[in-house]
Amino acid sequence: MVVLKHYTWLIVLGVFAIWSSAQIPYWPESTQALVMYFPYITVALGIFIALWLNRIQPVLILLSLGCFNAVLFYFSSSALGVELTADTLFPILIVLLPLNILLWILLPEKGVFNKRLNTLVLLIFLIQATVIYWVLKDLPESWLSLLNKPVLANSDLIFLSISTGLMFLLTLFFIVLKMNQSSFKILYHVVFMVLVLMLYGVNQGFDLNVLAWFSAFSAIALTLSMIFEAHHIAYTDELTGILGRRALMEHFLGLGKKYTVAMVDIDHFKNFNDTYGHDVGDEVLRRVARVLDGVKDGRAFRYGGEEFTLVFANKRLDEVATELEYIRRKVESGIIEFKTGIHSIKTNVTVSIGAAESDESFEAKEILKFADQALYKAKLAGRNQVVIGNDHPEKVQINHYKGTKNDGRSSDIARSTEQ
Ligand code: GH3
Ligand code: MG
Ligand code: MG
Repeated sequence: MVVLKHYTWLIVLGVFAIWSSAQIPYWPESTQALVMYFPYITVALGIFIALWLNRIQPVLILLSLGCFNAVLFYFSSSALGVELTADTLFPILIVLLPLNILLWILLPEKGVFNKRLNTLVLLIFLIQATVIYWVLKDLPESWLSLLNKPVLANSDLIFLSISTGLMFLLTLFFIVLKMNQSSFKILYHVVFMVLVLMLYGVNQGFDLNVLAWFSAFSAIALTLSMIFEAHHIAYTDELTGILGRRALMEHFLGLGKKYTVAMVDIDHFKNFNDTYGHDVGDEVLRRVARVLDGVKDGRAFRYGGEEFTLVFANKRLDEVATELEYIRRKVESGIIEFKTGIHSIKTNVTVSIGAAESDESFEAKEILKFADQALYKAKLAGRNQVVIGNDHPEKVQINHYKGTKNDGRSSDIARSTEQ
């Protein structure tokens, strides 16, 4: 779901950038003149946010994009003239740009204050500045023609040189590797798009406005990805990967009149930790979270510690009782296997669940407390069971649901009511 959201905005932004780049020549001259400032504004904003979030990789990618534009702009308007910039500098820069991006992606993310990394980065930039200086002074003619050798001679579609094409391909290849290596990381997907956009721009030839346009959109995409990532970190529980308490509180604000809240707590978990160790405990939390995250018609949150909350929007208690029982059983039947020394251990954990439904005289936070009271009853009644009911003065009704042997979601569950 999150992945789909990211792909959607990335594709929309990318398509818009490509479509709008074709419109630039039809804009009034005064507007066109502004296009080349666009990357500096977006890059500066992006770098500011990246520094704030302590992310060196986006800082460097943005810096490379900014330098790429600045160097082209500076030399094309200097005494050197447009021609030499287009024929000599441009072929070098469009190899250096993907090479830079590749380097920054391969460097570890160590924050912006790592001295050794920053010295290395400075050195890489200095080497490139020297290369550019040397290229402009006396690059042998033969090297230049080698660098400019086209992928396809006489093609109407592809104007790339072999060197540029290969460098972009190599970088794309490493990005795809990175994308598959780790769990979904938005930065890699954005960098993939940045490369595709810049490659598309570079393929148009030496056109400062088009390159500036694509650089600016790349900077926007990088900035957005940092903001989305920061939001993701704030709302997701790091250990289990499901939504955290902040997300739960926000979800409460958007709930309508009808909903059900369930509190889920792992039974004797302190004991489990003490027996098998904290690391195994953490793995159990992840597994239980995964089961809860698969809940039908509801959303799972880690409330804190070994407690989770399930929220079912537009559902009454009776409508979710079967699902809660199904979840309880699914946790119970999940075998946890691990090794301690030479011993192989197979065990399981159980959960107790308490649930309460919305009531117009109470806020969601209070309904959560009723669910907690129901959970407490489930614990008292022997754990590993579901207790549902709004246990407050106006409406004292507790229903105990005890599981049957049937494992399916549609199981009939025995019901007993006590006042
Ligand atoms: P009960 O059946 O009454 O719920 O007993 P309990 O032992 O589960 O309850 P208690 O609240 O006494 O203990 C909760 C334990 O959960 C304490 C702590 O060791 C463990 N715990 C909380 N957060 C984490 C975590 O992030 N990782 C691990 N491994 N354990 C955690
Ligand atoms: Mg517990
Ligand atoms: Mg607890």
